[in-house]
Amino acid sequence: MARIKNFFDQNDRRNNYKKIEKIKKEKRSERVRIVDDWIINSNNSKENLDVLLTDLYKKGFRRGRVIEVQKRNIFIAEEDKNGNPITENLWLCSVAKRHFQRAHKERNLVVVGDRILFEPNAELQFDADGQPLNTDLPRGVVQHAFARTSKITRKDPMHPAWEHVMLANIDLIAIVASVLHPEVRWGLIDRFLVQAEIEHVPAVIVLNKIDLLDDIKIASPEFIAAYKHRVEIYRKIGYEVIEICALKPKKTSENIKKLRKLFKGKLVGFAGHSGVGKSSILNLMKPEFEQIVDENPDIFYKGRHTTTYNSLLQLDIGAYAIDTPGIRSFNIQNYDPIVLSYCFPEFRPFKCRYTECSHDKEPQCAIKDALEKREISQERYRSYLGILKGLSFREGEGDSSDATMIADLKARQQKRDEELAQSEEDHSPSKKQ
Ligand code: GDP
Ligand code: ZN
Repeated sequence: MARIKNFFDQNDRRNNYKKIEKIKKEKRSERVRIVDDWIINSNNSKENLDVLLTDLYKKGFRRGRVIEVQKRNIFIAEEDKNGNPITENLWLCSVAKRHFQRAHKERNLVVVGDRILFEPNAELQFDADGQPLNTDLPRGVVQHAFARTSKITRKDPMHPAWEHVMLANIDLIAIVASVLHPEVRWGLIDRFLVQAEIEHVPAVIVLNKIDLLDDIKIASPEFIAAYKHRVEIYRKIGYEVIEICALKPKKTSENIKKLRKLFKGKLVGFAGHSGVGKSSILNLMKPEFEQIVDENPDIFYKGRHTTTYNSLLQLDIGAYAIDTPGIRSFNIQNYDPIVLSYCFPEFRPFKCRYTECSHDKEPQCAIKDALEKREISQERYRSYLGILKGLSFREGEGDSSDATMIADLKARQQKRDEELAQSEEDHSPSKKQ
């Protein structure tokens, strides 16, 4: 009896083995189905790329900049020859079916700021300028993306191994803080600057509400002295610091003009806590600003982006701005000391005894020598150590915003999961395209 049982067992095992192999094979072919032509310029030489692009343009493909992503709907502004988004030429696209597998795997396949190539839908008709006729929002299909030149990422506190890309191809990060109400947090500015350095994105520090410095009841002489000292530190390092009063623009009109000039034609990421005046600053980017003669705050809208999606705000000066919670609060931790020191530009000229110096307890540290000679500021060095040791930005004091951020993220993650489940139903490949 035992023998027979054994025999059947073996048969079972063989069947199981066959079944498993069949599943494995299916999985393999599924994997193979991921077409690897998503990034168009990843292994193309410049010449090859030009040939390829010319070919694709001939086929009717167009260049676009992703300005909003809602589930699988991708809103795109067509780009001109120089790569500037044409804000009137908007398209609604989806990712080509052959990239679905990939899109399923990489939740950051298409993010705001991405440069892509899309193919207008076949039934569209065009006018002499190549603009679609008889349609509100012409539809198309995203076929390829260009490699990102920069990206703003955040570490998902719940899944620390995941890199969550929030934004791509940002040209400038505007770090916005108010001098007072709420009081400027320099440690947070340093963190934003580190992020900008890591991504090789230029940054400008915008200090708003400088009118409050005039009020002796609000700003003590000591506060003003400390504030001015800080501003000088950043200017000496080489960062641009622009002080403005968004509420009474006439007061600082020269600096506002400077800011408008700096933003022009760029994709600007706004970083800063709420209440510092980001919306008010965006209002100053409207053409009416030139005509603001009386200081009437009524002209300012108090609109707030409450969308859970990142979305670009079109500025009339030919720029796009984005205010995203992603760069509003993030936590940098576990940086390699060498990488982190590199993100403090004023540290770069100094050579320590040990190449792997963390500038903390090592002997013959050039940074600490420079600190003593006041060539490097105490404040920035403290920020550096704080970030290195993973402290929150109020050095050692602890910060409740991490807890708030995690709660906020959890809520948003749940919402995203629900939406994903919903969109999975709406967009199952059998139903669409
Ligand atoms: P956001 O949350 O960063 O978009 O900030 P808002 O633009 O909504 O501004 C927050 C508050 O600060 C509002 O009550 C504004 O009126 C006020 N505010 C903005 N700019 C200034 C300024 O230059 N000076 C003063 N005193 N208040 C300002
Ligand atoms: Zn050192």
